[in-house]
Amino acid sequence: MQKTFDISYARKILQKHGFTFSKSLGQNFLINPTVCPRMAEMCGTSENCGVIEIGPGAGILTAALAQRYYKVVAIELDRRLMAVLNETLCDYNNIKIINGDALKVDFCKLINDEFENNKVVVCANLPYYITSPVIMRLLEEKLPVQAITVMVQKDAAKRICAKPGTRESGAISYSVNYHAKPSFLFNVSAGSFLPPPKVDSAVIKLDILSEPPVTVKDESLFFRLIHAAFAQRRKTLPNSINSGFGIAKDRIIYLLSLAEIKPTARAEELTMDDFASLSNILSENEDNILYR
Ligand code: SAM
Repeated sequence: MQKTFDISYARKILQKHGFTFSKSLGQNFLINPTVCPRMAEMCGTSENCGVIEIGPGAGILTAALAQRYYKVVAIELDRRLMAVLNETLCDYNNIKIINGDALKVDFCKLINDEFENNKVVVCANLPYYITSPVIMRLLEEKLPVQAITVMVQKDAAKRICAKPGTRESGAISYSVNYHAKPSFLFNVSAGSFLPPPKVDSAVIKLDILSEPPVTVKDESLFFRLIHAAFAQRRKTLPNSINSGFGIAKDRIIYLLSLAEIKPTARAEELTMDDFASLSNILSENEDNILYR
């Protein structure tokens, strides 16, 4: 029977190794014993799924995952934590720690090598400085992953889970909703971490869709359009699209009319369907759009 993770023992091991927290690596370790079991319970799609964790820190979430799932592969950038993890997780034989960068690791190869045909999910208390790049990498590479459960800053959680076409939405809401069905799971107070961060956090889950919710002819143009529209979100679409693509405003107003979108609309008023139809109209009507 595997032990539950002992937080005071982990703190002693960190002290023994002279560990000091690095702000630049987003090191806020969980010390609230109720958060990890909840996250671990909710991240899986079945008991026989494998889990990829990003940033195990001292191993508190890693242990909670290993108690529930058949295998955990955790990627930690900070070399100083390797010796710590070897001690704190020594009771578990279903954990593999990789010293590497989650922004560079070849996830496709890792999944093929480590999980064979099994179902795989991602679970992480993400370092805040790489929240968006990691989430977008995992989604855009179209990996054979079923769900991504992550702890992020509360504001980022709200933005990621916002319904496209609402005031809370941003470019990332559309990208996420194109690939997944996001859900807001629960809040986590700043006092649950050592050292405590300045803001509260929240756990979200992205269930990967087998098909995107809209039909898009050119994905890269679709995302470029969304980013151009949100780069200047207070401006109306003829202005923001003019800045992003260099198409004359009169022409943009005409293209918007083909998509049945008002010329006074701003990015956050557009639904996924609106962006899909506008990007399809752009790709049909603007031959050299990719070169502008
Ligand atoms: N999972 C632990 C917990 O919940 O207590 C630690 C979470 S802490 C917020 C983020 C962890 O990610 C740290 O251990 C940090 O060293 C690691 N990290 C930072 N940048 C990383 C990167 N690019 N790739 C992998 N791990 C990274």
